[in-house]
Amino acid sequence: MTDTPTAPTRMPPSLWAATAPPPPTTPALTEGETTADLAVVGAGFTGLSAALHAAQRGAKVVVLEAQEIGWGASGRNNGLVIPALTRADPDLLVQAFGPEHGPTVVAILRDSANLLFDLVRRHGIACEAVQNGWLQPAHRESRLALSKARFDQWRRHGAPVQLLDADQVEAITGSRFWCGGWMNSSGGHINPLAFTRGLARAALAAGAAVHSRSPATSLQRVGERWRVTTPGGSVLARRVLLATHSYSGLAAPSPWPGLERTMVPVRSYQMATRPLPAALRATVMPANAAVSDTQADLHFAHFDAQGRLVTGGGLAIAAGHDWRLRQRIGQRLVKLFPQLEALGGIEFEHLWHGVFGATPDKLPRFWRLDEGVLGWVGCNGRGVAFGTALGPVLADAALDGDQARTKLPFEAPRTVPGHRFAPIGVAATVLYQRWKDGQD
Ligand SMILES: Cc1cc2nc3c(=O)[nH]c(=O)nc-3n(C[C@H](O)[C@H](O)[C@H](O)COP(=O)(O)OP(=O)(O)OC[C@H]3O[C@@H](n4cnc5c(N)ncnc54)[C@H](O)[C@@H]3O)c2cc1C
Repeated sequence: MTDTPTAPTRMPPSLWAATAPPPPTTPALTEGETTADLAVVGAGFTGLSAALHAAQRGAKVVVLEAQEIGWGASGRNNGLVIPALTRADPDLLVQAFGPEHGPTVVAILRDSANLLFDLVRRHGIACEAVQNGWLQPAHRESRLALSKARFDQWRRHGAPVQLLDADQVEAITGSRFWCGGWMNSSGGHINPLAFTRGLARAALAAGAAVHSRSPATSLQRVGERWRVTTPGGSVLARRVLLATHSYSGLAAPSPWPGLERTMVPVRSYQMATRPLPAALRATVMPANAAVSDTQADLHFAHFDAQGRLVTGGGLAIAAGHDWRLRQRIGQRLVKLFPQLEALGGIEFEHLWHGVFGATPDKLPRFWRLDEGVLGWVGCNGRGVAFGTALGPVLADAALDGDQARTKLPFEAPRTVPGHRFAPIGVAATVLYQRWKDGQD
């Protein structure tokens, strides 16, 4: 399985590639050497949000993208805007990052969905944005305690959350599958590639330079600055943000060798049905919210603007993934929404995949790679809102130097132990978690 693009100017096929408005023109970097206050490597949510914010501050910003805008996880994800991480709940974040940094990370996360939807409104980004809340229903009675714990923790931190019983979950989802759950009303869903392209447009309008098909191949210190080299030209920058995340070493050789070993790439498959008839739309997910449940083998869905159910799943083994996923996820949708039996079979129009960056303890990592070079990894599958919200914080940390940098718990990069065995570990984890979902 490969992530190599089929042509230099095309995104890999997906629902989003088929439906997003076209990208702005972002020619490859071709001329000699340009100077910048901030060089951003990677044009996903993190890099473009950082570039937009830094340019609005008056900094001279150059974004270098190896492939296309949104070519990494930002253009391939499900589009769920979730102001929470998978396992790293507020108490754990405070415990892990300490009383100085923990609450800051929690606050960034708490406000992340609102920040994203504010950007959409402020910059008029056409990306099918729907802020009708994100719901995490419990798939077993025993998981209601987890729902309650998450609800309690987020309420303590001032998030707009609600605890829901099974009837309330049914009213939002149209499904009796779940036993209750909790909801954050600031969440929602977007067309993520359209949003990423919109961010690029906003960054350009704010004065940033954005160059696609410009892989950063090396980083070299030149006095107080860093030279970021691409095949066509170079950037001499005061500060560098490596926003390459799970596509470090995948979209192009990493300009910071070893960055790709500070996380584990996990492949996730995304699928979209044909547009559903209006009568079914009225009963399946009638509140048009975003849903992802408590299972490690996540059950998730939302509608796109044309009424397709956008869902997906994970697999332990990639072989035969297309056929297997169509069967497995089709059956899953009917189990969640028996109303869909009326279709006489679920047809998927789109099936695509991408990788996100996981960490063994499910915590994000904020790397200070060297003086003036920052980065982060470890969204653990939740970076639509979080990555976007980290953009301004990382930009400030890069531009302002030591004092502001302490807002996030930066540390020297650490390789994930046993990284070379990661694919086996990921497959084993998928199988174990699937078994565990049915146990407790
Ligand atoms: C299939 C899938 C489904 C997901 N679903 C959700 C979801 O519903 N909700 C949610 O919150 N999160 C989800 N996520 C996670 C989310 O998509 C990511 O956390 C987020 O997109 C990360 O954004 P980013 O900007 O940090 O990195 P990316 O979007 O991966 O951007 C990194 C960029 O760096 C570029 N790059 C790499 N190397 C170089 C180089 N040498 N030079 C120049 N450029 C380079 C890449 O081409 C890429 O464009 C999902 C992820 C996947 C893969």
